[in-house]
Amino acid sequence: MLPTPTCSSTPPAWTDLSKPLSSDFTPPTNKEIGATAHAEPGNPSVYLCGNSLGLLSKRSDQLIREELDAWRTRAVVGHFDHPKQRPWVKFTDEVHPLMAEISEAEVACMGTLTNNLHLMMDSFYKPTAERYKILCEAKAFPSDQYAFASQAKAHNLNPADAIIEDILSVLEREGSSIALVIFSGVQYYTGQWFPMESITKKGKEKGCIVGWDLAHAFANVPIQLHAWDVDFAVWCTYKYGNSGPGGIAGLFVHEKWHEVELPKYAGWWGHTLTTRFKMPPTFSPISGAQGFQQSNPCILALASVLGSLQSFTAVGMDKVRQRSLSLTAALDEKLRSSKYFVPPAEAAKGLNGNAKPAFTIITPEDPQARGAQLSLLFLPVGTGVMQKVFAYLMERGVVGDEREPDVIRLAPAPLYNTLLDVNAAVKYLEEAFGSLA
Ligand SMILES: *Cc1c(COP(=O)(O)O)cnc(C)c1O
Repeated sequence: MLPTPTCSSTPPAWTDLSKPLSSDFTPPTNKEIGATAHAEPGNPSVYLCGNSLGLLSKRSDQLIREELDAWRTRAVVGHFDHPKQRPWVKFTDEVHPLMAEISEAEVACMGTLTNNLHLMMDSFYKPTAERYKILCEAKAFPSDQYAFASQAKAHNLNPADAIIEDILSVLEREGSSIALVIFSGVQYYTGQWFPMESITKKGKEKGCIVGWDLAHAFANVPIQLHAWDVDFAVWCTYKYGNSGPGGIAGLFVHEKWHEVELPKYAGWWGHTLTTRFKMPPTFSPISGAQGFQQSNPCILALASVLGSLQSFTAVGMDKVRQRSLSLTAALDEKLRSSKYFVPPAEAAKGLNGNAKPAFTIITPEDPQARGAQLSLLFLPVGTGVMQKVFAYLMERGVVGDEREPDVIRLAPAPLYNTLLDVNAAVKYLEEAFGSLA
């Protein structure tokens, strides 16, 4: 091995994994999250749950307060005349540039995820006698499964026949009967980042519409919806996007659809702004994604997502991803070198059958096939090891996310987590196993 060259210049702060990448976030203390028995109450908790609900940023906190102030002092006038020059009629203009990759006309910040999924399926899922199937990933998120099944039923189709689960080989074999390919970009349970570009390409080759649910991909992994020729996408912003519980969602409609008159459930906020308040009887939609807007959006929710997106832009998405790769690699490495770790292949063969408590990782080892999250499967399955480890972690202020019966998801969020969080999580995980013996 070559000796490490001595380097006189200090590395840029963002490569220092022991400090947070953004100073906009303060994790809750142990006391605040209720970890008092075995943790120092005033210390920050080890929050590794940004995949489920991101933290409040100082920017969001301030922007929400400003909007409350604007509401108190201007009331209805705030729609057009705003103390901070963010008139509510076009508040989304502040958010769209931060959400869009290339063209703002391709995105709309609106509604909620499942709602937007229904809107997009209503516009894009047009089953015919020959081509009527929906292709999705096995074990899609329950809300998505319900949405797919109810959409099939709305077209008088039997969900059991109309919905197939799997990927490229199925596309190859059954492509001509598939109307819609709809996957999640990053799988919520396993943390797998699907090869979005190749799935989209294959789907388009077979003449299918291709849509993506980016719930766990938004603000987590780099995506190029426009360049990949994705037809539509939907996402929520309260996971890695830190917009707060039930925060406002987003959708994408590719530019190539903008001149096509897609069927839509129209509302006044999708109407062209110049004539919206003249209240004409006929609907004249904004061209592109924003034509799908229905209602005037919740400004407090918009202020919240705006603050968080500003934190991402302040750092730069490239750095966010670099940082995410480093933190998750560090977590992965430490977990894999634990004496309680069983490699996935061995776990699958059941070598750990009736043996001692252990864990494996069901997230792909390839950094290009995952985002921030690692999903740990506890063994032997169904014996309550996961529940005991999870409780042990919680009592020490390590907040992960449990998925019954046997999985804990841990996601270092690149903006606010550090190597210290990763180290603490692994340390307490090992202690938890020690306490089981
Ligand atoms: C989080 C998540 C949802 C949640 O849907 P809401 O409409 O925001 O409640 C739906 N689908 C997937 C894939 C998710 O990860």
